[in-house]
Amino acid sequence: MDSARITRYISDLWDAEIVPQLVQYIRIPNKSPMFDRDWAAHGYMDAAVQLMETWARSKLSQLTGATLEVVRLEGRTPLIYIEVPGQGDDTVVLYGHLDKQPEMTGWSEGLGPWTPVQKGDKLYGRGGADDGYAIFGSLAALLALREQGVPHARCVILIEACEESGSYDLPYYVDHLAPRIGNPSLVVCLDSGCGNYDQLWLTTSLRGMTGGELTVQVLEEGVHSGDASGVVPSSFRILRELLSRLEDPETGRIKPNELYADIPQQRIEQAKSAAGVLGKAIYQKFPFVEGMQPVTEDLTELVLNRTWRPQLAVTGVDGLPPLESAGNVLRPKTSVKLSLRVPPTLDGAKAGEFVKQLLEQDPPYGAKVSFKLEKDGSGWNAPPLSPWLEQAVAEASRQYFGAPAAYMGEGGSIPFMGMLGAKFPQAQFLITGVLGPHSNAHGPNEFLHIPTGKKVSMVVAEVIARHFQPHSR
Ligand SMILES: [Zn+2]
Repeated sequence: MDSARITRYISDLWDAEIVPQLVQYIRIPNKSPMFDRDWAAHGYMDAAVQLMETWARSKLSQLTGATLEVVRLEGRTPLIYIEVPGQGDDTVVLYGHLDKQPEMTGWSEGLGPWTPVQKGDKLYGRGGADDGYAIFGSLAALLALREQGVPHARCVILIEACEESGSYDLPYYVDHLAPRIGNPSLVVCLDSGCGNYDQLWLTTSLRGMTGGELTVQVLEEGVHSGDASGVVPSSFRILRELLSRLEDPETGRIKPNELYADIPQQRIEQAKSAAGVLGKAIYQKFPFVEGMQPVTEDLTELVLNRTWRPQLAVTGVDGLPPLESAGNVLRPKTSVKLSLRVPPTLDGAKAGEFVKQLLEQDPPYGAKVSFKLEKDGSGWNAPPLSPWLEQAVAEASRQYFGAPAAYMGEGGSIPFMGMLGAKFPQAQFLITGVLGPHSNAHGPNEFLHIPTGKKVSMVVAEVIARHFQPHSR
């Protein structure tokens, strides 16, 4: 294989077609169903599917025998299914998603979620990096191999539209398509993160996630706070007390042992070396206000906190008026949305049930407390790396990044990886991505680091080529 030609081909394709496609894609506000309950009526999801479908179809003739189908199961988000025939009996699955996180506030002047802006190497806007580029990067890799006649296994590309809502539609598609997908020996996922933009980062684990809406109601309607305070317990205070069952308010440590898992020794070693490579960048990548400190200065502990320990975020609130219209009222209820990350090897559904019981049992003062579970994805811990993949990853990183590969767990969740890991215990995983320092997926000022998008596409080409070489496995 001519690596220089792979580099040239993929880089040119990104500049000529993929970046312009992503610019169009960023304009579409196709929020994941959890953030746009009327997504079907709004039609944005269909617009995003159509954009990707049109581009992918225009490339199929260069991938002899390839087929594309937009699969639509009744009442569910659509899924783009592409099959590229190959040689031998093996199958490679390449995964990505096209639904997006909601807008979020705090975008800088001139930037916005649905406003694509290119500044130097960065393409700003929602969903370019998370994870719109995946279908383009995956196809670019396969096109680059075909262009110089490098053989590869049969490849199946799956692009779902429900990931940011916990992939609740995906199991139905996986069941529906199981006979066509086959039994993959390699899974490629481009929806993950990187510790920096200087080398290839392989994701070794992903946290699971559970969460939902916690509501505390104390009154049928709001009343004068001067009249009621001291008599009627505040829903905010009760909520605070309930949250303290879950999280230590002083340290942020999650209290129940049921929400922890044993951390494998190898992962502790890898956390130490990742901490060594990244140094203080582990926390300096966050836009701290002046004077603000991280949870601890121990860098290895920070890596383990964000990859192997349960942690809570309160991501939304209801029942509280905005400040300008807040009168002296003892409000009837307070609701918050909880997002609880759980360790990679913990059962997400069981963790969710445990949290529900923990929060709902023995409500203080007999308040009406409900926890509506919304997400229950289990995490994922990589199986031991096959020697061929370890070598392919090492050489691809040196070839295209000019630096050795690095290994780290990610704090985020990709529910599909847990599902696949359980379904195909024999499969090897190449999980990587472009979500590096300041790329800020889910927050304001999300950007795609274009050179990293290109390099990751090249790495995928290299790894798929090596996967096919029987002597290398
Ligand atoms: Zn994503």
